[in-house]
Parts: sequence; structure tokens; C-alpha cells
Amino acid sequence: AQVIADNLLPATVRIEAPPTGAKPSSYFAVVNPADQASFAWLREQSAEHAKIAVTQALDGQQKWAARPARERAGILRRWADLLIQNKQVLAELLHLEQGKPMAEAEGEICYGASYIEWFAEEAVRVYGSTIPGPNPAKDIVVVKEPVGVVAAITPWNFPNAMLARKAAAALAAGCAIVAKPAAETPLSALALQQLAIRAGVPAAAFALIVGTDAKGIGEVLTQHPAVAKFTFTGSTKVGRMLAAQCSGTVKRLSLELGGNAPFLVFEDADIEAAIAGVLLAKFRNAGQTCVCANRILVHDSIYDEFAERLAEQVEQLELGPLIHPQAAAKVATLVDNAVAAGATIVRKGSPPSEQKGRAALSSWFGGVVLTGVTAEMAIAREEIFGPVAPVLRFSDERQAIALANDTEFGLASYVYSRDHGRLWRVAKALKFGMVGMNDAAISNAAAPFGGVKQSGYGREGSQYGLDDYLSIKYLSVGGQ
Ligand code: ADP
Repeated sequence: AQVIADNLLPATVRIEAPPTGAKPSSYFAVVNPADQASFAWLREQSAEHAKIAVTQALDGQQKWAARPARERAGILRRWADLLIQNKQVLAELLHLEQGKPMAEAEGEICYGASYIEWFAEEAVRVYGSTIPGPNPAKDIVVVKEPVGVVAAITPWNFPNAMLARKAAAALAAGCAIVAKPAAETPLSALALQQLAIRAGVPAAAFALIVGTDAKGIGEVLTQHPAVAKFTFTGSTKVGRMLAAQCSGTVKRLSLELGGNAPFLVFEDADIEAAIAGVLLAKFRNAGQTCVCANRILVHDSIYDEFAERLAEQVEQLELGPLIHPQAAAKVATLVDNAVAAGATIVRKGSPPSEQKGRAALSSWFGGVVLTGVTAEMAIAREEIFGPVAPVLRFSDERQAIALANDTEFGLASYVYSRDHGRLWRVAKALKFGMVGMNDAAISNAAAPFGGVKQSGYGREGSQYGLDDYLSIKYLSVGGQ
């Protein structure tokens, strides 16, 4: 296959079939969500592999950190360029294993590359500071050092970009990284790492553990004493548990967990812009992002018109399948329960015609707009992770803010209004790490991505992103 010929995947990945004579349990399959076909086989790696990788990373980190920052920056820069040069093949791989349409897959490769480019630039700007000492014979000097070996666990929804933004930041800071990608989408991660190595990142500074034993591998990554920092993107449920596992060795932590983003549309909003915003914030990646609008809160006076116009637009969307049939079944149950509790389906999209007749074992789920949704319904309380837009009503600004904040999550939020006094007032009152103010495309490498409350802590991207991988050391300089 082309990806192997191009050295984008290690030779241990089998594209046609597992090697003859191999024990079935020693390989796992990668499944195309569009048709449930297994199309690649990978050798299972285990907790033992993770231990070896961490041990090698200890030495790898020292050597990597000893290279001049400008040299590390150059390597990262080459890595970003290689992603762009191989964009087409990387996007095809991503589309195959994750299901997102090709245009979105290409978008993700560029998005991942933009973080690598960003951190290549930041690598040479790890500035310290000096502080006047407590008396004239003393100076206080502050330096920043790489935290050491970083372990990461990443999800399947952005298999390239979620790993790229952790690995690039860690490597820019002078850390080594050992990462476990989601078993659903290991190929994009492997290709990303192969390109890093081709760009000049030492293999001991960037290791991947691919396998289906998430628990066993996760235990090593969260409990090994040589791991100084653990970074995770995934569900709040798993994140909470992994954070507890890290407590035994008091690791630095970054957690990017679930969200329940409110999308507020006031009566004075630019309705066209707000609808375009919902289409982007709700339906990107078929609704499988942690910053997806989860609750569309619309003012009474424009509610019916807004829902109607939104529904018309949803019909035009190109949506990929969800990650697996269980995900589609979970979304269907949320919709069914909401309808049973009084919500109305304004539009139920149908999956692409060629998928019809295979609904029973299908990952396909058409776009849905639901009206009459109330705050108590499970669909408004849980992260949907599917292409369903529940539209809720509010009658004034205070109620809108109270509804928006009524969640244990605090990742993304969105507010649309033409009244700038209101826009700022509401944005300040929203208890979320990120607020899109008349903007639904909030995520980019120059911005600090991250949450508050049970959406986690730590920031990815921006000048703050590197701090997550640096320790502050203070030198008390006396004897003057
Ligand atoms: P999602 O809903 O995105 O699948 P998860 O939190 O289940 O969210 O998965 C995110 C990542 O966490 C994946 O790489 C998955 O393999 C990993 N993971 C899931 N359960 C565990 C676990 N018990 N220990 C370590 N990693 C886990």
C-alpha cells in the first residue's frame, strides 16, 4: 500500500491481512467506520512495551534537551512541512480510520501542522526572569526547564491534531514524550510519528504505544516513576480516573476533558451568522468534538424561525459516519428519550443512500434538529458527541446565563448578539475556558485551548501552551 511505500507507516503495519501464521490475539484490526470493514492490522503492544519506552525516553529526553533550542525548532519546523507535503495521504488515512469527510480530514492535517509550526517558533522563546532580591547581596533568577518525560493518552476524534499539539509542545520544551493513541485510530498517530522521526526527532524522544489494552498501558503511563507529567484528552470519566492514578507519584497533569457547550443566540443577533456558527460548532466532525455546541439556547422571540431555518441548512450538510455503531446507538437513545419527554424532531436527516438497508450495524447518523428541549433532559446534560442540535428557549439575559452555566463542564461556549455591551457582559459571566463571541471557529494554534470545572485544566496552543511542559526553577544568587 502507498502509505507503507511512502514510509508513512512502519512496516509492522499490515494493510491487506495479518501475517499468515500470526496468533490472532497478537494483532488488532483497524476498522473503517463507514462500512465496518477491517482494513489494517497492527501488532499489539502492551504495558511491557510502555515500560521499555519510558525507560528509553529518560535517556532520550536528556539528549534531546541538550540540543540547542534553535536546532530543536528547526526539526519541528521540518516536521510541520512534512505534514503539509504529505497532506493528501495523511488525510486519506485519517478519513479511512476515523470517518470524517476528506475536506475535514485535510483540514485536520493542516490544523495539526499549525500547532507544530507554532511550537517550533515558541521553542526558542523559553524566557526566564530576574527579580530584585530581599537585600542588595542577593539576586533572584528564574529559569524554565523541561519537566522531563511526558506521557500522553489521546482520543480518536482528532487522531492527528490532538497528538500533534501535545507532542510538538513537549518536544519544543525539551521533553520526551511517550504516547498512547486511541486504538480506533492508531494509523494517523503512527504516520505523524514517522514523519517526526524523518524530520530529525530522535526515536527515544517520541515513542508510541499502540494496543487495545488501554487499562494496562494507561497504568504504566500514569504510575511509572520516571514519567514527570501526564497529559490526557478524552472523556471526563476516564480523565478523572487517570488523574487519580497519577496522584501516587504526584505527576504534573494536563486534562482536556468533556464539554457541554452552550450556544446563546439573543434576539438582536445576526441570525444568518448565528446559523452558520451553529452549523460549524455543532456539526463539525459529525458532532464529535469536545467544543461542539451541545445546547442551542435561543431567545423566545426568534425561537421558531431560528429552528426552522437551522433545520433547512442541516439538510445540506455532508456528514461522515460516527466512530462506531455503538456511538450511533447512544446518540439515537438520547434523541428517543428526549422525544419521549416532549421534544420534537424538526428534521431527521438520513444517511447517504448507499448506506440504507444496513442500519442495524451502522455508524451512520443523519443530522437532527430537536425543538422543545428542556434543561432537565439527558440530551441537554450529557455530551451528545453526535450530529444532534437540541434547541432550548430562554426569555431574558439572566436566565440565559443561568441555563448556560448550569453544567459541571466548562470548556467552550458561544454567544451571538449585535449589542456589544451585552456580548461582553455575557462573555464575562460564562464559566467556561473559552468563549466564542460572534465566532464559532474558536480553535487555532495562537489561542489557549482548555477548560475550567470538570472539563479539566492546562492549556494547549498559544504562548501559555509551552508552560504546561516547563518547570520553574529559581536560583537564589548570594555572596555578592
Ligand atoms: P472517548 O469517548 O473519546 O473514547 P475515552 O476517554 O474513552 O473517550 O478515550 C480517550 C482515550 O483514553 C483513548 O485513547 C482510550 O483508549 C483511552 N482510555 C480509555 N479508557 C482508559 C483506561 N481505563 N486507561 C487508560 N486509557 C484509557
